[in-house]
Amino acid sequence: MAAAASVLALLLLAAAAAREADGYVAYNTSAGTVAGLLNVHLVPHSHDDVGWLKTVDQYFVGSNNSIQGACVMNTLDSVVDALARDPGRKFVVAEQAFFQRWWVEKSPSIQAIVHDLVDSGQLEFINGGWCMHDEAATHYIDMIDQTTLGHRVIKQQFNKTPRAGWQIDPFGHSAVQSYLLGAELGFDSVHFARIDYQDRAMRKQDKGLEVIWRGSRTFGSSSQIFTNAFPVHYSPPNGFGFEVLDDISPVQDDLLLFDYNVEQRVNDFVSAAIAQANVTRTNHIMWTMGDDFNYQYAESWFRNMDRLIHYVNKDGRVHALYSTPSIYTDAKHASNQSWPLKQDDYFPYADSTNAYWTGYFTSRPTFKRYVRMLSGYYLAARQIEFMVGGLFTSSLEDAMGIAQHHDAVSGTAKQHTTDDYSKRLALGASQVEKSVNIALDCLISSKGTCRSPAVKFSQCQLLNISYCPSTEEQISGGKSLVIVAYNPLGWEHSDYIRVPVNDIHLVVKNSDGSLVDSQLVEIDTVTDNLRKLYVKAYLGINTDKPPKYWLVFQASVPPMGWNTYFVSKSTGTGSNKMGYVSSISSSNKDTVEVGPGPLKMTFSSASGQLTRIFNSISGVDLPIQQSFLWYGSSTGDVIDSQASGAYIFRPDGATPTAVSRSVPLKVIRGPLVDEVHQQFSSWISQVTRLYKEKDHAEVEYTIGPIPVNDGIGKEVITRLTANMVTNGTFYTDSNGRDFLKRVRNYREDWDLQVTQPVAGNYYPVNLGMYVADGKYELSVLVDRSVGASSIQDGQIEIMLHRRILHDDGRGVGEPLDEVVCVDNKCDGLTARGTYYVNVNKLGHGAHWRRTTGQEVYSPFLLGFAHEDERSWKSYSTGKGSMMDAKYTLPDNVAIITLQNIDDGTVLLRLAHLFQAAEDPKNSVMAKVELKKMFGKRTIKKLTETNLSANQKKSEMRKLNWRVVGDTESGPAPIVGGPVDGQAFVVELGPMEIRTFSLKF
Ligand SMILES: [Zn+2]
Repeated sequence: MAAAASVLALLLLAAAAAREADGYVAYNTSAGTVAGLLNVHLVPHSHDDVGWLKTVDQYFVGSNNSIQGACVMNTLDSVVDALARDPGRKFVVAEQAFFQRWWVEKSPSIQAIVHDLVDSGQLEFINGGWCMHDEAATHYIDMIDQTTLGHRVIKQQFNKTPRAGWQIDPFGHSAVQSYLLGAELGFDSVHFARIDYQDRAMRKQDKGLEVIWRGSRTFGSSSQIFTNAFPVHYSPPNGFGFEVLDDISPVQDDLLLFDYNVEQRVNDFVSAAIAQANVTRTNHIMWTMGDDFNYQYAESWFRNMDRLIHYVNKDGRVHALYSTPSIYTDAKHASNQSWPLKQDDYFPYADSTNAYWTGYFTSRPTFKRYVRMLSGYYLAARQIEFMVGGLFTSSLEDAMGIAQHHDAVSGTAKQHTTDDYSKRLALGASQVEKSVNIALDCLISSKGTCRSPAVKFSQCQLLNISYCPSTEEQISGGKSLVIVAYNPLGWEHSDYIRVPVNDIHLVVKNSDGSLVDSQLVEIDTVTDNLRKLYVKAYLGINTDKPPKYWLVFQASVPPMGWNTYFVSKSTGTGSNKMGYVSSISSSNKDTVEVGPGPLKMTFSSASGQLTRIFNSISGVDLPIQQSFLWYGSSTGDVIDSQASGAYIFRPDGATPTAVSRSVPLKVIRGPLVDEVHQQFSSWISQVTRLYKEKDHAEVEYTIGPIPVNDGIGKEVITRLTANMVTNGTFYTDSNGRDFLKRVRNYREDWDLQVTQPVAGNYYPVNLGMYVADGKYELSVLVDRSVGASSIQDGQIEIMLHRRILHDDGRGVGEPLDEVVCVDNKCDGLTARGTYYVNVNKLGHGAHWRRTTGQEVYSPFLLGFAHEDERSWKSYSTGKGSMMDAKYTLPDNVAIITLQNIDDGTVLLRLAHLFQAAEDPKNSVMAKVELKKMFGKRTIKKLTETNLSANQKKSEMRKLNWRVVGDTESGPAPIVGGPVDGQAFVVELGPMEIRTFSLKF
């Protein structure tokens, strides 16, 4: 007994030292930073994927928990309770797709509490977009849109502007993210976890994880951002996670209970802090206190953090505080430290020797195309909405925002979640389509008002597989097929329209009534088969009678305007009474030359291989080949079990297998287009189209079902091999915007140890890629995000499709084996897409890449109707534009946003399309005359804003940073001056994007 009593006495003595009182302890959590000590910024957060293993709504409500125990409602409900309990506590919220789902369900009293928490800085919105977007497979316009949407609701509800970028999970980081979706948004900082493992090791040694990032070569230091790459991951240091049902080590400070551990936990804290301080500049370090779908019961975290802060600060060796990325950044800034400079981007990302996350650049290619197609469609629909009035496009807002998430368009969600993303997009798009059908009639009405009843327009989302009921329909009863083409570009766009038809006796007339040259091309059996299967699979419709022909004609449409074409039955006979029926040509020569215009290609008659591309006007003449190959997907080996999968590209090490060395050619010729049809195998076919007035080849591939009955996953590429010395150098775009220089087997920031000579040289491509030698530039543009590389000099290779039988162990837990099912019969997914090939003289490729790239992104929006031509003309304007007649935007400017906002304002964004020094004629200051652009409308008020339109441009404040050995020289970037409120002329320097809030 005596012994026991003395132990108790000792314990009580210790208690007196560590604890103020028995029972209730008021933990002191209110401290800010302290000078002279190491400050440990605890940033409480929960990483909530907007869909991944479960759908976004399942994550929100907490259903399907057998897959993953996760409920964002729990997180937000319990965080608000926990914050309200102690004003010292803080929490950051990123994804507005979740927060807004939650907010609308809250009572006024809870909303009032949340308002107080936000106003006091306890609850801070960071990032603030609808989702935490991916940075490889996203287009910059979609990134801007989804961020603007989130920022707008935060501004409306809380009058707050997020200050910090929080991209903690995306798999590599883009240049566009740093300067555009960072600095130009008004963010002071961006924070993330995933950078290359070799890069990270080097940066830890040099204390270079935190940098000043200048992602734009055009803007340099004027668009830089403080960047914090975490030393490990976005979870806390080991032993400091406190998720309620995890195996945690709580801070136990009650001496009347067993396992009292305050000293132990304080010691652990101090040593973890010192370890991190050893790889970090200044005496401020950040601990990311949270993980995926954490804070299900927030009190568990806050209770333990309260105690840590209290006892660590009493201990006094280091200083702990509740913090946020903004507080942390301000502390870093106040330290007056110099930071290393970082340029370009953080791609590709590898987390170990054989684990390059470059597969997801291509994973789920048809979903990627769907997102990109709807992106262009959404832009055009919002323009039409602006012109006729209304807010009918908002049904796509949530779906498009969610689709940009880093497990959505990236292709790394489970199949059922991907189906959910597609369903949301399809529902949103079909609603917008219905409204656009009505709006088109209002737009073209000669009275300037909507008619009632309106003409029934229809649109065709499945034109690429020749499904379009209204063009296939017989033209009868004196009616014509009326095609209204809307052009969302700022310049006149001339392009070829192709629609499936069933009649050979058709003529096409334009809005003046004059005949337009047309050509009929027989629809091939590959397309017939695709149409039959996919119309059934997607729409549940049996289509037994495929259309016979593509009707091809050239349409020319004014900027931000429309033109009308009438397809009708020809009444007489003779060549000018119907379209030209394409001929199938055969050749006895060694080579076959195709192309009705100046651009020609030659193919070998014997092998069917492309041999040469040349242009009789520009004089360009380049020997070139093209082939399809596939990499076998690695399933792991004895040294490393890493398999290729949804995220990771790991080829099996063998040289890629050529699909065919000899391909039969079928050449179809006509006055508008020549086509070369090639079947490379039973599962790969290709049509190369050379149009009369295009200086590029359009290559349409159809790949699938990829055979896997040999047990081998396959990653299919197309490869162009030109006779060019390119010195290991190639150029790929960043989110469809800046082109970045890539050098094979090389990284600018560290000495690369090459472990994956193919996968480690893949980069994301959204707009295109090119290589150059002393004479020529060979460029390719794409219609969706893909992975691409140049593995040998003179080569461009693009990964187009992947079908893999193993999971790569990064969490999704499914092989990337997409199938399509009809009547319970499933087969591998077929992907159809297009890429565009151009050869230009050195220094002349940029104009084609930028303008054609914009035309690929923003094609015509086509509306179809069957009407009597004469009566149509009596109530409709055949051809028109929002702009003043003859006004056009210059070639170097695109309208990337024109959108009605629910507060009665209109959002306008103009983007200069060229980088500094990219093109002698176009990399110059551009001017847009808004008065002429808006034609009859009068601008009453114009306010220039930041990129996401949540603050006035004039009120944006940028932090100045010191950069180690800063040697920035060269000319200052050219940027436009303020817009005069009378003249309304907008100037744009190279790569400049300017955002305006307008009132009419
Ligand atoms: Zn994530």
